[in-house]
Amino acid sequence: MSYDKFEALKRRYLALRSVETVRVLRIQDEIVSEIRAFLKGEGFVEILAPIIGPVTDPGIRGAKQVSIDYYGARFKVMSSMILYKQMMIISLPKIFALSPNVRLEPLETVKTRRHLTEFRQIDLEVAYATYKDVMELGERMLCHVTTKIKRKCRRELKEQKRDLKVPRRPFKKYTYKEALEILENLGIHVKYGLEIPWGAEEALSKVHNEPFWVTDFPTTARCFYYMEHEDNSEILKDFDLIYPEGFGESISGGEREHRYAEVVERMRISGEDISEYGWYLDMLKAGVPPSAGFGIGVERLTRFICGLENIWDAVPFPKVAGVYSP
Ligand code: AMP
Ligand code: MG
Repeated sequence: MSYDKFEALKRRYLALRSVETVRVLRIQDEIVSEIRAFLKGEGFVEILAPIIGPVTDPGIRGAKQVSIDYYGARFKVMSSMILYKQMMIISLPKIFALSPNVRLEPLETVKTRRHLTEFRQIDLEVAYATYKDVMELGERMLCHVTTKIKRKCRRELKEQKRDLKVPRRPFKKYTYKEALEILENLGIHVKYGLEIPWGAEEALSKVHNEPFWVTDFPTTARCFYYMEHEDNSEILKDFDLIYPEGFGESISGGEREHRYAEVVERMRISGEDISEYGWYLDMLKAGVPPSAGFGIGVERLTRFICGLENIWDAVPFPKVAGVYSP
């Protein structure tokens, strides 16, 4: 991998002049507009995302959260707004936000070509929905955006030499267990109960030419906010959508565990410091509706649509682990 790329990132004011960057940013503008149009058409209300708060998403796979001194208290910069989405559906049953996230990802993520330390999600939540409902929504959303971009950005995609295909619905669905079996056949062993490592996820993605779902992750692999199956508390009603051609993860989401006592128990088991979750637990005690939702990374979607080697070419001001760029 070429480290010259990092030099270009440090001098972004020069790289921003390149025709490819200009093209990618034009396509990205259409992607965001089309997702907004699609979600509005589905009855969603766009809300303004929080940037800081007393607590944020702990389920960030080894990345570090960023804390700030907020008038003498420790506040976090949002690693994701998941906990806040549950607060919002109290008043609006279908919401989304273009939410900025900061995660100090491990240094080795510079090699995955799909990790930034500052990125954005289109983050949505639907009251009273099941995880299957929002998976269906995710499929239609991805098909909508690829159809529109193919039509509106035909010239740009041609210049990118990107042969973008509109995915065929319904997308293939594997359980986590089945995904591990496919990996085993590729000679990659993943220990049951853990997250699928980035390299393995990329290998799985490479042997597909259509996006596909991985569902039902083990409870030990994921955070306290996902609902367990009624008949098997060891697996969750959750999912990832994986892009084909080696682009890797696109979406994560699932059905929410919204019951106070169950959440406290799950936090205890996973070793969370319960005292940090003050308002969140108080809110659950007061009662929130059941819901499901997901987040799709905007830069990863741009990378996939434009066929970019590196995610940092899918954002005007990229932040990559360990690289001091503007
Ligand atoms: P997560 O909740 O960690 O699954 O994040 C939700 C979505 O945000 C993922 O499915 C990705 O599309 C995107 N995402 C997560 N982490 C990163 C990262 N470090 N850089 C860019 N995109 C990310
Ligand atoms: Mg994920």
